Amino acid sequence: MAVACPGCGRAYADERFAFGRTFWCACGRRIGAEPVRDARPGGEPEPRFAVDAMLGRLARWLRVLGLDATWRAGVPDAELVRDAQDEARWILTRDRRLLDEWRVPRVHLVASEDPHEQLREIVEAFALRGRVRPFARCTRCNAPLEPLARERAAARVPPRVFAGNDRFWLCPRCDRVYWEGSHVERMRRTLADLLAPD
Ligand SMILES: [Zn+2]
Ligand SMILES: [Zn+2]
Repeated sequence: MAVACPGCGRAYADERFAFGRTFWCACGRRIGAEPVRDARPGGEPEPRFAVDAMLGRLARWLRVLGLDATWRAGVPDAELVRDAQDEARWILTRDRRLLDEWRVPRVHLVASEDPHEQLREIVEAFALRGRVRPFARCTRCNAPLEPLARERAAARVPPRVFAGNDRFWLCPRCDRVYWEGSHVERMRRTLADLLAPD
């Protein structure tokens, strides 16, 4: 199989377009294979995300909602794109250049610069309203959380936290303990308006 440049007709082996990569033909045109668009935002009950390195705060907020959102500091575009396609994730990015350089089946260009607005945008675009699941996922590493028996939490949290909370969760990957503390109330208020069912 080969892909022919629509400008000059030169043919290129399709391996060069792996994972949607594009490149400049000798004639000066950017060429690439068109992706198969087999998914649309809002069309999946549980979309999963691969978040661009620039959008770390958005990734954390998505995890607060219980959504599966991978993120890695400084991840090169090629790895982001490859991993996203390997795992059928939606790439979330504000980088238009990435859309020129890669033609991928699942990508959403994030418009806002503000993390809360970005979250609102994703919730609307992917029809996630009313589907919040706090304490479903570790905000630091994205792993699904597990309930932690209260007696086991005693040794893991400050005494005042232990005394003031009945429910605890543990991240099995990074070992972080979660509880319904004041930070959660603040998150809830932030999210309440955003996530209330219509
Ligand atoms: Zn050409
Ligand atoms: Zn974790």
